[in-house]
Amino acid sequence: MQFLGVKWDNLSKKPFIKYKLSSNTGEELYYPLIYGQYLSLKVLNCKNCIGYHVPPAYMKANCKYNVNLSNQPANQCSSCRFNDSTYFLPVDILSPTQIEMLKGLKHYNYINLFGDNLIKIGVVADSRKFTRLLEQGAIATIIFSSGDGYSIRKIEDYISRALNIKQSVNWKKKLSLLNKYASIDQAEILLNDYYKGITGMLSKYYTGNFSLMKEFYFHKNLYSNTDELYNLQEIKYVEKISPEDNVGGQLIGVYGEVIFIKFEDIIIAVNSKALLGYTFEVNDSLPQKPNYSYTYLNTKPLDQINLQLF
Ligand SMILES: [Zn+2]
Repeated sequence: MQFLGVKWDNLSKKPFIKYKLSSNTGEELYYPLIYGQYLSLKVLNCKNCIGYHVPPAYMKANCKYNVNLSNQPANQCSSCRFNDSTYFLPVDILSPTQIEMLKGLKHYNYINLFGDNLIKIGVVADSRKFTRLLEQGAIATIIFSSGDGYSIRKIEDYISRALNIKQSVNWKKKLSLLNKYASIDQAEILLNDYYKGITGMLSKYYTGNFSLMKEFYFHKNLYSNTDELYNLQEIKYVEKISPEDNVGGQLIGVYGEVIFIKFEDIIIAVNSKALLGYTFEVNDSLPQKPNYSYTYLNTKPLDQINLQLF
């Protein structure tokens, strides 16, 4: 089996491991990640290109060359990375073909909220709305406009620059803020303030092909069915995987793309991106003894939260 990441189902809003039966062969398949159950992942000694996305469903197409990437940090070959470049290149330098592709797909602009009032702006295609919001580990979201993908990317750039809102936040930052999350009411008040500022600015100063809208979502309870995840004082963080590593235990939660597993009294956070492209085995039994390397991530204690901002 080839590991292709964590996928949040757009309808059920539940997490799965995305994989193919062997590297770059056949269709995407999904292994359910069920909280409270045992989960064991064993990494085998082979890593291949993970292929590229094909809209509108954004499923992974097989790499044409099945490039072996063992011993390399990359998980895509240059050809597959180029195929995905529409999603990560700045909107100003997209090719006419990429712009036409985006113009044909409905997208939304949103603001995501993380711990300690940290926010980011983003765009998401209609076909994978919740998949995208949840894979980022957003605690809450407000969607403020819809339109074709190109117009929505331009708005993202405009608002990001005008209001100095980040377009990405790294996993270490998100995880280190895991015990500083807002309640649903606090999140709604905070995101509503951004909503008013942004939509006011767009309707006054911005011309383009879009419609304003408002949808608020609170996602925190989808990542775990226990508070354990949000009360960790430090996190044993696995962000690098070596062949022959294995992680396993009881599944405590899935926070975006990070899988939380408890073995005896130890909780580890495995960034699933470290596993991308590897051949692996998965099952629902308890492992003999996990074997992995980790770094410590500190989370500030609860009493240091600045609640005034809410
Ligand atoms: Zn490839």
